Amino acid sequence: MIKKETIDVIMDTARIEEVVGDFVNLKRRGTNLLGLCPFHNEKTPSFNVSPIRGIYKCFGCGKAGNSVNFIMDHEHYSYPEALRYLAEKYNIAIEEDEKTPEFNQEQLQLESLLITT
Ligand SMILES: [Zn+2]
Repeated sequence: MIKKETIDVIMDTARIEEVVGDFVNLKRRGTNLLGLCPFHNEKTPSFNVSPIRGIYKCFGCGKAGNSVNFIMDHEHYSYPEALRYLAEKYNIAIEEDEKTPEFNQEQLQLESLLITT
């Protein structure tokens, strides 16, 4: 499990325009950036990135989200995989809780066995 503190640092550091900019050619349009949507085929750009709000939104197909959502959608990553990708991009050290969910699950099963027998 990636620690919440690490996730906060990643969310604060990962700029949406930089994360999307690795995959999409973005052009500045006022306070937003505009590009061709990577999630559907289009000839006129309707893929909007708002650096101020830290989100992207496509007015063609409706895809929207933050930096982590973009990596999950674009690279077909799971949530932790997307966090690791962004941590690597920004050289953020990932701190993890020592107990994995699997371990907790085993522990719970073991305890319930001890209680019932
Ligand atoms: Zn789209």
